Order: sequence, then C-alpha cells, then structure tokens
Amino acid sequence: MHVSRLSFGASSLGGVFHAIRVDEGIETVHIALDGGINFIDVSPAYGETLAETNLGLALRGVRRDRYHLATKIGSYSEARGDYDYSGERTRRSIEASLKRLGVDFIDLIQCHDIEFADHEVLLRETLPTLAALKAEGIVRHIGITGLPLNVFAKVIERAAPGIVETILSFCHFELNDTSLEARLPYFKQRGIGVINASPTGMGLLTERGVPAWHPASPEIVVACQRAAQHCRARGGDITQLAVQFACSHADIATTLVGTALPENMRRNLAYLKTPIEQTLLAEVREILSPIQNCNFTRGRPEHRDPLLMPAVAA
Ligand code: NAD
Repeated sequence: MHVSRLSFGASSLGGVFHAIRVDEGIETVHIALDGGINFIDVSPAYGETLAETNLGLALRGVRRDRYHLATKIGSYSEARGDYDYSGERTRRSIEASLKRLGVDFIDLIQCHDIEFADHEVLLRETLPTLAALKAEGIVRHIGITGLPLNVFAKVIERAAPGIVETILSFCHFELNDTSLEARLPYFKQRGIGVINASPTGMGLLTERGVPAWHPASPEIVVACQRAAQHCRARGGDITQLAVQFACSHADIATTLVGTALPENMRRNLAYLKTPIEQTLLAEVREILSPIQNCNFTRGRPEHRDPLLMPAVAA
C-alpha cells in the first residue's frame, strides 16, 4: 500500500469524543478523500460499530480504488471489557465489518489493542485465521495495534516471519511523547510499516482539550494546556503544530488524525502545506519537557510498559 502522509481515523464517526452530526461526519470523510487522503482506519470497537456504520454511509458510491481501508478485530468494547481474539469471533467480526462498510475486501486487518490479548491465542488462533482470510482474498494485509510499545516485538518475534506487515502505535509520536522514535529502526529492518495515530494525543493538544475518559494524568493535561496557551499568545495554534510535528518523520508511513468536523479536516489538510514554525516548536517542546514521554499505559499486567514520571510537578 502507498498511503498518504496524513490519513483519516474514523473513531470520531462513532461519537467517541462527543456527539456528532452524521451529515457532517460524512462530509468530513469526503473532504479527506478530495484532499488527497487515501488511507482510512476504523474498528468495530469505535462507538460499538457506529463508526463503521457511519463510515459505510460515507463510502457509499466512492470508487473502491480511491482508498485503502483498515479495520480491526479483537477489541469490541473497551467500556464493557469485550475483548475476544478467537478465530471464530474474528471471522464473524470481519463478515459483519464488510457488511457495515459496504465493501467486499479489507485492505488492512489489524489485531486491535493486543495489550488486552492472551498472546498464546493471538499466535495460535488469531494470526493463522487472518492468514487464511488473506489467502481467501477477504483481507489483503495484516497488522497489530497497541498502546504499550514493548508489546509489538513480543508478537513479531514469535509470529511466523512476515505475517505482521504493519504496526499501529498511538500517542507515542506527538509533541509531548516521542518514545516511538527509538523503535523505528526495529520495524524498518523487518520491513514492517509504521502507522502513527493520535497526533493530538486524543485531544490533549487541542483547544477543546480532553474528553472525560482520557487517561492522561492532571500533570500532563495541565502542561499541554500551557503549551496551547503559549501557541495562542503567539498567534499560533497547538493543533497545527501537533499535526505538522506528528507527520514529520520520514520512517513513519502515515499519521491518522480523527475528526467528524469538516472544518477541522480542512484545517488539518492545510497544516501539511504550511512549513512548521521552528521557533514556536522549540518553545512548545521546552514547555512540555517536564512531562516528555510521560504517558499512560494499560492492558494485561504482563503487557504494560514501565511508566516515566514527570520530571517536576507541571
Ligand atoms: P487525535 O489525536 O486524532 O484527536 C482527535 C481529536 O482531535 C478529536 O476530538 C478531534 O475533533 C480533534 N481534532 C482533530 N483535528 C482537529 C483540528 N484541526 N482542530 C481542533 N481539533 C481537532 O486522536 P484519535 O482520533 O484518537 O486518533 C486518530 C485515529 O487513529 C482514530 O480515529 C483511530 O482511527 C486511530 N487510533 C487507533 C488506535 C488503536 O488502534 N488502538 C488508538 C488510537 C487511535
């Protein structure tokens, strides 16, 4: 797959950040496609299938060769703790995703949030089931996604060579956290494509700020708000800087940004055509330095990354 540097993450279409208007969500997808974005990521977990349903509405009538479509299996509801990586549920889920999305194949199928998976099941059942579906032409490529960075190599090292073609990492290559960068040579050596998600840190680096469910500690939230205020005082915009920065690494294939608002999508596309303001970037990184790479982790205890604590109280 040859994917655009900025791509569209459809979780917002499931109303995960706030209630949305479906017509606006659909328009947002069209603005993304018309603006040159050719990669769209979704999951049955987003809004418990609502994002896939709304994305299916948006893609109705759009030529199939205009976009690469990625969805996921394994995580179905974070709120209800519905994680199931069994071969049987995987097949059933993909069939349902195809119907909701109105397509007859998936370009990239990803094991969603493997920090919640029993890796024995993943290796014995999930990946072989996906390989069989690939042989049947129902999916074209296979990937894994997760928050802890250590979790990727744990699977790649034990899986059949070449079976894992992509990883999707989120909140680890953004203004306040660049910990993904040290792992990039590992993926490059193995020919594994890297997808970076959440350039705004799921709302941290926006004027609106974070939703109630956001896992960041108060120190992180406050430091990001301070960075946003600084940008505003300089006549800039924290989200512009965040999107530009997240899309700047040559060894990251694409960065997924999410929104269901047409105006946000227009702005995100425009940000990439504007050079990054280096002085503002340096000032913001300085403001964020006490919390740099201090993020959150989650998943089964054996899959969590060690956490870095803020250098000083932010
Ligand atoms: P994000 O950093 O893209 O932030 C989304 C938030 O930023 C939304 O509230 C949106 O309205 C706001 N926003 C976007 N553009 C804006 C703009 N120009 N101005 C102001 N606000 C703006 O986080 P995300 O949506 O969580 O991540 C993007 C996508 O990546 C998801 O939709 C999903 O497809 C993917 N993702 C996958 C995983 C996973 O597989 N485990 C995890 C996280 C994200």
